[in-house]
Amino acid sequence: MRYFKPDFLFEHFSGITIKWLKENNITHIFSDLDSTLAAHDQHGTKEFEAWLSQLRENNVQLVILSNNNQSRVDIFTEPYRIVGYGKANKPATSKIQRIMDEVGAKSETSLFLGDQLFTDVWCGKRLKMITALVHPIEPEHEPWNVSLKRKAESVIRRGW
Ligand SMILES: [Mg+2]
Repeated sequence: MRYFKPDFLFEHFSGITIKWLKENNITHIFSDLDSTLAAHDQHGTKEFEAWLSQLRENNVQLVILSNNNQSRVDIFTEPYRIVGYGKANKPATSKIQRIMDEVGAKSETSLFLGDQLFTDVWCGKRLKMITALVHPIEPEHEPWNVSLKRKAESVIRRGW
């Protein structure tokens, strides 16, 4: 089950600092949205805005990849003009591979960020990216199917 084990664990996305990104040679962050960058169906917070400004000042591109629908992604991305894709089909890789080509990202300098093992971490590993798992933001607001997956994830994590 090591296949689902992320390379790095963070409490929160804001723990991913510019210093850390530079040390790991990361130029692109491909990130999940719900429970990773915002609570489920919520807008970005001031903390997110501050983090995004730092990424931009340092030429790190953020691309949102969500399995949620495009309208959800647009509500989040539009105020910031971030590139974001809904129905990303994680952990399938073909659509994301095309997106990587479009934005000029290479696997070895890309970080896949997310809160779920079976979609986000597995997807990043299949794309040969560096992977980071965050603790979900406000998991009590997640739909039942996500809560169910968390129970399965906890079984996997016990094996690490
Ligand atoms: Mg998520």
